[in-house]
Amino acid sequence: MSTRRKVLLGGAGLVALGAGGLAGRRWRLDREPDLPAPLDAQGRALWSNWAGNAHAYPVKRAAPASEAELVALLPDATTPIRPVGSGHSFTALVPTEGTLLSLDRLSGLVRHDATSATVRAGTKLSALGPLLAGIGQEMPNLPDINKQTLAGGLATGTHGTGKHFKALHGEVTALRLVLPSGEVAECGRDQRPELFHAARVGLGAFGVLSEVTLQNQPLSRVRKVVTLVDTEQVLRDWPALAKRHRNAEFLVLPFTGKSALITHDVTTEPVRPRGPDQDASTLMDLKRLRDLFEFTPALRRRAAQAAMADIPPEVAIDEGWKLLSNERPVRFKEMEYHLPIAEQVGALREVIARIERDVPGVFFPIEARIIAPDDAWLSPFYQRESGSIAVHAWYKEDHDWMFRLIEPVLREAGGRPHWGKLHSLGAAEMRTLYPMFTEADAVRRAVDPMGRMVNPFLQKLFG
Ligand SMILES: Cc1cc2nc3c(=O)[nH]c(=O)nc-3n(C[C@H](O)[C@H](O)[C@H](O)COP(=O)(O)OP(=O)(O)OC[C@H]3O[C@@H](n4cnc5c(N)ncnc54)[C@H](O)[C@@H]3O)c2cc1C
Repeated sequence: MSTRRKVLLGGAGLVALGAGGLAGRRWRLDREPDLPAPLDAQGRALWSNWAGNAHAYPVKRAAPASEAELVALLPDATTPIRPVGSGHSFTALVPTEGTLLSLDRLSGLVRHDATSATVRAGTKLSALGPLLAGIGQEMPNLPDINKQTLAGGLATGTHGTGKHFKALHGEVTALRLVLPSGEVAECGRDQRPELFHAARVGLGAFGVLSEVTLQNQPLSRVRKVVTLVDTEQVLRDWPALAKRHRNAEFLVLPFTGKSALITHDVTTEPVRPRGPDQDASTLMDLKRLRDLFEFTPALRRRAAQAAMADIPPEVAIDEGWKLLSNERPVRFKEMEYHLPIAEQVGALREVIARIERDVPGVFFPIEARIIAPDDAWLSPFYQRESGSIAVHAWYKEDHDWMFRLIEPVLREAGGRPHWGKLHSLGAAEMRTLYPMFTEADAVRRAVDPMGRMVNPFLQKLFG
């Protein structure tokens, strides 16, 4: 039985505690959030992101099947023109009342050599794994899920974890993008370098990416281990753990005193495939614990600890692209900031304390990861090793507490927000957080002088 399954069943402790007077009591309504109407007054269909917190009624939707179609479409497209990937960003980067542009049909391998591959920008990370494995390559690192498109992931600085691993854009060596005018621009370190530095993490504001060249590594096998540990212990050992393992992250389970430590290390051991995904059942377990004991934190902690006692580590061994990403089928809303590494543990302690003191409704884990520095101008990891902290709320429940209680802590610690996750910042703050922000914005204005790709959210970001 896997770690997560045992948590699901709750063990004798949880069941016994739940059988008392508190059992069956419901603290809040469990209902779907209100969505806008499927069609607006003009008959335009609703677009909504994965989390259901960003919406729009685009006047036109397009999915070009070739770069030539994209080139023909852009000069006269109704504005704002907004490219969309898999819609997995939580911020309103995509919504448009103009043209919504999907690259779903621009997917697959263009060419490759011994260590790198050029792929169409609409390729989903889930397709990229097997595609690269077929030529003996893999991306050195991957994010927590692989549902994103490559272009969408790059545009927001999407990252995994690992002291020596950059975010996805850190391995990009060349970009091909179609500018709003229809001009096709190729860029790399030696070709239009300013466009390359600005557009690698480009928020879909510099044009529409059509191809990306990735520096890859030979296919390798990793051993994934998920262990339940005391939160205090992992906080103490984190710098050593991050150094010891190829990839390390931990998920603090608030109100339990426990965390799930996840590590990946290269191995030559025989394959041991991962078991069925338990994410949904584990989260619903944590929710049940919350529902029962929300107003009695001591009991909630005791019940959790009883339920999680003696759970063995979960181990899987396979190629990295099969293990580094997860399913995450339960919808949520998320805020993540990237802090100077020295600030991470202190800020995390404060985040845990605030949640456990003031927001008993939280049952989703708090996630901590580490990311190597890079030199893309709008990268949240620009020239600094970063420790990330992410908080989550179930999609049906309120998340205002993130802005009220958590964001001030992350900002105070010098954090830069994930471009695709909830934050409240605008141009003034970005200018102080990003040393090359003004230069990046100048490049953006040069390639899109009429602001044809700017929606209200980008207007706030760029000013
Ligand atoms: C369940 C879940 C797990 C996640 N896990 C992680 C994680 O582990 N690490 C992490 O860093 N983030 C994570 N994220 C955030 C996610 O990786 C980013 O928000 C990412 O940008 C989503 O990619 P997408 O393809 O859905 O792009 P979208 O959200 O559709 O778009 C994102 C941006 O990309 C632009 N874009 C899309 N296509 C193009 C194109 N062809 N050319 C130019 N611009 C384009 C859009 O205009 C927009 O600005 C997670 C999100 C969810 C919902």
